[in-house]
Amino acid sequence: MYGWWGRVLYVDLTTKRVKEVVLDEKYYVEYIGGRGLAVRLLWDLNPPGVDPLSPYNHLVIAAGPLSALPLPSSGKLVVASKSPLTCGYGDGNIGTMASYHLRRTGYDAVVITGALKRPGYLYIEDNKVEFQDAEDLWGRSALEAEDGLMCIHGKNAGYLVIGPAGENLVRYATIVSQRGRSGGRPGIGAVMGSKKLKAIVVKGTREPTIANKEEFRKVSEEAYRKVLASDAYNFWIRQGTMATIVWSQQNSCLPTMNFREGVWEYYESISGDLMEKLKVERRGCPYCNMQCGNVVLDFSIEKSELDYENVAMLGSNILLSDLRRVAEVNRIADELGIDTISLGNVLGFHMEASERKLVDERVEWGDFREVKRLAVETAYRRGVGAFLAEGVMRMARSLGKEAEEFAIHVKGLEVSAYDCHSAPAMALAYGTSPIGAHHKDAWIISYEVRTDRLGYTREKAERLVFLQDVRGGMFESLTTCRLPWVEVGLDLEYYPKLLSAVTGTTWTLDSIRVVANRIYTLIRAYWIREYRDWSRELDYPPIRWFKQPLTKGPYAGVKLDFEKFNKMLDWYYEMRGWDSRGVPRLETLRKLNLEFTAPVLQEIVGLE
Ligand code: SF4
Repeated sequence: MYGWWGRVLYVDLTTKRVKEVVLDEKYYVEYIGGRGLAVRLLWDLNPPGVDPLSPYNHLVIAAGPLSALPLPSSGKLVVASKSPLTCGYGDGNIGTMASYHLRRTGYDAVVITGALKRPGYLYIEDNKVEFQDAEDLWGRSALEAEDGLMCIHGKNAGYLVIGPAGENLVRYATIVSQRGRSGGRPGIGAVMGSKKLKAIVVKGTREPTIANKEEFRKVSEEAYRKVLASDAYNFWIRQGTMATIVWSQQNSCLPTMNFREGVWEYYESISGDLMEKLKVERRGCPYCNMQCGNVVLDFSIEKSELDYENVAMLGSNILLSDLRRVAEVNRIADELGIDTISLGNVLGFHMEASERKLVDERVEWGDFREVKRLAVETAYRRGVGAFLAEGVMRMARSLGKEAEEFAIHVKGLEVSAYDCHSAPAMALAYGTSPIGAHHKDAWIISYEVRTDRLGYTREKAERLVFLQDVRGGMFESLTTCRLPWVEVGLDLEYYPKLLSAVTGTTWTLDSIRVVANRIYTLIRAYWIREYRDWSRELDYPPIRWFKQPLTKGPYAGVKLDFEKFNKMLDWYYEMRGWDSRGVPRLETLRKLNLEFTAPVLQEIVGLE
């Protein structure tokens, strides 16, 4: 096989046993890698109903056949597990040198199960695995831990670490790498913490195989040149995703006051233009020639890496003005290893609960000192932090019905930074995202703004399926960054061409979409297996967007229409080959070679 190694490394932390497993070629042809490989491994290996924070849950770190090869923005890897936040399938991608090194170990993925008795870290160098002590790193911030490990293993290695939030099982703790690149929003950092695994250090020295090197070089060089020649390139390099603050304000989707509104009068205090003035450095992922990690000096004159999502969620959503303050909270969250999107939601929810006197504590909107205090308390589960560490869904359930009406999440994962009162397709994207509400799988709001903003149409459902297939299916399994396509218009056809050159087999966008459809359907089967009492209500966006209209901005008075939303959801199910409950049909499972899930689904919900 070219492109893949055909081998996965299994590590059992309880027994400290390691084994190498050769996977059948069909795993790669049917799932490609990254997310695809991860969900298949989790389906096969995780006991149904496993407690996500128990030793029996598996953590998968997976690369794809294009990861960390010299082609645009390829330095990503996927971290996946059963989520402690949603109790369904959870994953995230991270742009990191760990991707480069994982690809060069000779393994396509590392699967970790069991738990250590005392804090430790894994050191993987090619096919050599060492279990190292991490007592002195436990309790340290993610940045300190990475620095400490780098002193031992040097700069020529990849580092995946957790902070105190992961150690203390905060349900939305992330895995952090390279001082602020983090991933695994649905609590994948807490899964590492539950295994007493502070870090994974990986060093690889083997060259991944490429079937047609000359063709690969030609296509890749051309793709790099196209990125540089794009009209959008110069502005992207200046602002990256931070330009979206102004765009969201103009289009009334900037999350404001716990997603109450889509505009904020002080949006300029957190804008991309202001960020440019504070910028001191640009960072990015390996092999990327459009690096978008904008580093600014925060309120304490420390470096903080910003993007749109963290600034909107820790800025407008909690009414925290002044970009340097927002940057400071962002930096603290990175040090603690806590997801900034969920943190912004949790704080917004808590502030609203306080305003409505549903909690004893009084927390004012935009109170910088309180926000910092609460972030730290959360990471250590101290005082009210133990409540905040549970995430919005559980917080709301414990406060009762009134609170559930302003709890902004889908399936337990807090919504990322687009208000959807006036964006029905983006609401559907959040509802049907395979990890709970996240924009990664379909940023359809830009299409919606350009076309039929308030329409509930079949075309939008169709576009959503396409975007999910490309973003959540193709890019997450290859595993490369979607932004060259999204932001500077790199033609999608480059990716099947590159995959064909690397693997030596012919791939087209259509054949990749078949894999994507399989991945989405298997992830859905996984959720149903874990939830058992599945219903279509689980695919609904937050109630607030249906019940409480916007009061400000160009769409004042607008809210989502329940009947029309349901119609779009029906179209979506039909296009995926799922029934009206959102359960894959037997015929769909057969068509996608997923018959092995049928007996389980049949027993739990019955198949149509
Ligand atoms: S565009 Fe940004 S996120 Fe994507 S690979 Fe480059 S630096 Fe990483």
